[in-house]
Amino acid sequence: MWQRAVRDFCEGEVKPYAQEVDETGQIRWEAIRKMRDIGLLGLEVPEAYGGAEMDTLGVAIAIEELGRACGSTALSISAHNGLGVVPIVRWGTEAQKSQYLPKLLSGEHLGALALTEPGAGSDLAGGVQTSAVRSGNGWVIDGSKAWITNPGLAPVINVLLRTDREAGTSGFSMMLVPTDSAGLTIHPPEKKMGLRGSPTQMLSFEGVHVGADALLGKEGQGFAQTMMTLDNGRISIGALSVGLAQAAFEEAVNYAKQRRAFGKPIAEHQAIQWMIADAALEIDAARLLVYRAAWMKDHDRDYTKAAAMAKLKASEVAEKVCHNAIQIHGSYGYSREFPVERIYRDQRLMTIGEGTSEIQRLVIARRVLKEFG
Ligand SMILES: Cc1cc2nc3c(=O)[nH]c(=O)nc-3n(C[C@H](O)[C@H](O)[C@H](O)COP(=O)(O)OP(=O)(O)OC[C@H]3O[C@@H](n4cnc5c(N)ncnc54)[C@H](O)[C@@H]3O)c2cc1C
Repeated sequence: MWQRAVRDFCEGEVKPYAQEVDETGQIRWEAIRKMRDIGLLGLEVPEAYGGAEMDTLGVAIAIEELGRACGSTALSISAHNGLGVVPIVRWGTEAQKSQYLPKLLSGEHLGALALTEPGAGSDLAGGVQTSAVRSGNGWVIDGSKAWITNPGLAPVINVLLRTDREAGTSGFSMMLVPTDSAGLTIHPPEKKMGLRGSPTQMLSFEGVHVGADALLGKEGQGFAQTMMTLDNGRISIGALSVGLAQAAFEEAVNYAKQRRAFGKPIAEHQAIQWMIADAALEIDAARLLVYRAAWMKDHDRDYTKAAAMAKLKASEVAEKVCHNAIQIHGSYGYSREFPVERIYRDQRLMTIGEGTSEIQRLVIARRVLKEFG
C-alpha cells in the first residue's frame, strides 16, 4: 500500500517534471510541499513530532519510488531524511528537536549534512580540518566543506567538526549550525553532470560562533555518529540506485517493443532480449540486497556489511542497466529528448556518494576477514 501510495504521488507530481527539474536546475517546491502531507519529509521521524515513523524498509521503498521518478528529487529527499533529519531525531535534545524538526517537516526547507571537505572525502578521519574551538560558553568554527547536498535550502546544517586534534577518531563532534550564522557562506551550486536539480554546494566557515547548545549528541562522538549515519544512508543510496535502474529498464523495454529493425520489433532480437533479461535479474538481485539490509537494520542486526553490499551492488547495477538502456535506444538514447540520457547522468553519482565503490569493497572485505577470525 505504501509503495503504491508513493508511486501514485510520484506519477502525478514528480515524474512528469523530472526533465524540467534537470534542465532548470531547480527543485520543484510544489511537489516538496505536497510530500509533507504523505509523510515523505519525516520518514523516520516519530509520529509525536509529526513524522511518518516508517521502518527502514518503508524508507527504502519510498526512496526507490522517488528514484524511479526523478533522480534529483530523490537525492535531495534522501539526503534531507537520512542525513539532515535522522541525526537530529537520534541524537538531538528535546530543545533541538522542537526547534528544528517542525521547520524541517514543513515543506519549506530541506535538511543537510556536511562531512566532505575539499581535501577529505573517503578519508574523513585523516582529512577533515574544519574545526570548532571553545570560546566562552560556545564554539568558534573555521574551515570549509565541499559537495554538500541541500545546504542553501536548510535552516540548519549538521556539520562534522574537529574538536580535539590530539584525540584521533574521538576528536570529532557534530554540531547544528544555523544557516543564517554570521561568517557562514554557502557558495553557488556546483555545475554537475547529473542530478542538476539537487543543489550541491561548498560552505565556508570564518569565525562562525555557535552556542554550547549547538553540539549534537556528546562531544567526541562525531566520528561514530558519522559512521552510523553513513551505514543508514547507504541503504538509501542503494534504494535510489534501484529506482534509477528500474526507470531506465522500463523505458528500454517499452522502446524495444516499438522500435523496428530487420522487419520486426527490436525486442524480438535475441541480443536485446539478453540485455532485458540481465537487467530484470540484476535489478531484482539489487533490490533484494537493499531490502535485506533494511530488514537487518529493522531487526537490530549488525547491518554494516549488508548495507555496503546493497549499495555497491545496486549502484553498479544502475550503471550497467542505464548503459544498456541507451544501447537499446540507439541514437535516440543519446538525445535529451529521451529520459534514459538524464537517468544515465543521474545514476553516475551512485558509485561515488556515501562512500565510493572502492570504500564499500574495503568495508566488506574488512568484515569478511574479521568473520574468518
Ligand atoms: C552530487 C553529490 C552530492 C554529495 N552530497 C554530499 C553531502 O550531502 N554531504 C557530504 O558530506 N558529502 C557529499 N558528497 C561528497 C561525497 O560523499 C564524496 O565525494 C565521496 O565520499 C568521495 O570523496 P572524494 O570525492 O573526496 O573522493 P576521494 O576520497 O578523493 O577518492 C578519490 C578516488 O580514490 C579512491 N580511494 C580513496 N581511498 C581509497 C582507498 N583506501 N582504497 C582504494 N581507493 C581509494 C576513491 O574510491 C575514489 O575512486 C556529495 C558528492 C556529490 C558529487
